[in-house]
Amino acid sequence: MTRHPSLSDRVNALKPSVTVAVAGKAKQMKRDGLDVLGFAAGEPDFDTPDKIKRAAASALAAGMTRYQPTLGEPDARAAIAEKLTRENGLPGLTPDHVGIHVGGKHGLYLACQCLIDPPTTSEAPQEVLLPTPAWVSYRPNIEMAGGKVVEIPTTLETDFKMTPEQLRAAITPRSRMLILNSPSNPCGTMYTPDELRALAAVVAEAAASTAPDLVVFTDELYEKIIYGGIEHLAIGSVPEIAERTITLNGLSKAYAMTGWRIGYTAASGDWGASIIKAMGKLQGQMTTNITSFCYPAIRVALNDCHDEVEQFRQAFAKRAELIYSLLQDIPGVEPVRPTGAFYAFPNVAAHFGKTSKGGKPINSALDFAEALLEEELVAVVPGEDFDGCGREHVRISFACSEEQIRKGMERLGGFVSTLS
Ligand code: GLU
Repeated sequence: MTRHPSLSDRVNALKPSVTVAVAGKAKQMKRDGLDVLGFAAGEPDFDTPDKIKRAAASALAAGMTRYQPTLGEPDARAAIAEKLTRENGLPGLTPDHVGIHVGGKHGLYLACQCLIDPPTTSEAPQEVLLPTPAWVSYRPNIEMAGGKVVEIPTTLETDFKMTPEQLRAAITPRSRMLILNSPSNPCGTMYTPDELRALAAVVAEAAASTAPDLVVFTDELYEKIIYGGIEHLAIGSVPEIAERTITLNGLSKAYAMTGWRIGYTAASGDWGASIIKAMGKLQGQMTTNITSFCYPAIRVALNDCHDEVEQFRQAFAKRAELIYSLLQDIPGVEPVRPTGAFYAFPNVAAHFGKTSKGGKPINSALDFAEALLEEELVAVVPGEDFDGCGREHVRISFACSEEQIRKGMERLGGFVSTLS
């Protein structure tokens, strides 16, 4: 018998996304008839607003079914440029400074591929600065491009935020990208405008001396889901670094459109137009445009859905307070008060070294999450793949009803009380 053809080292080395995997497993268990309470998926439980659906449905009915320009139909690109100018103050944006991609993830992939060169035998790898814990897909996308992840570790005590001193100390002449994600998935916290300005000043100073190729990649997907009294600042609006910043955003979280797969990137000035063009060249060899009849939905979402977004935001604000107060009452589960996005990210390490009532030793966040799912039918994401101190944490998405939050946290409390 001949052996099966082999797979590439690249894909063999790649870790599957744990967020996608746990959310998928919980959904499958539900389909199998189990009373699973899912807190794994980073996905709003609301339906897409009707007017957004109608815009796409009308475009489909009108025959908008053909190829479009790779980076997006012009009016949709213009709507995004207008939004980023009006709401976020990104300077000098035209439709040419905007690219529309199949979800935020593809924007991340394209940016990494367009900025990072694989290492050569004579040169050290290019470095990407990643404050951790960080969303699970940054590291694989950086590494697939050949970059080396340089972690900047943060802790619960500082709301998982790095300091300007930490950033300054991590920058080298090999620094190619700095990844920012505020509000943060998985941490549920966000930087203040002043904190971001201080980080921008460090980047500007380094770019003028040691690290001329440093680019800020700022993932602002959770921009609209904030409730801690902190204002959102788009760091790409800071003039000194505007022409070395790629802003990533999309419709998934703010408009409850995860399945539509609409993400976008933007960058200012001459450099911005050239990096977006480069990303378009790569995208043109991959996906071409996003689903064509979705484009008209973009303008409707960005311009006409302020009330819906505000309703979602208020619901998340209530859920954040509820889950935070319930988690505080569970022994050995240490949460931080969420200020943005829809995640609680408590430390559960106090329970490591114990055994579950089903006999499973709990020595890691993964053990904790597995036993919680198997024994109490509660799905959360173990923190290991978020890196850094994430290995002592679990991510609990509260994009679900208050009733489910109450039930789930009751089960979590019961689970913890039986660990011995
Ligand atoms: N971003 C969401 C999450 O973190 C969706 C799944 C994914 O892409 O990782 O759960």
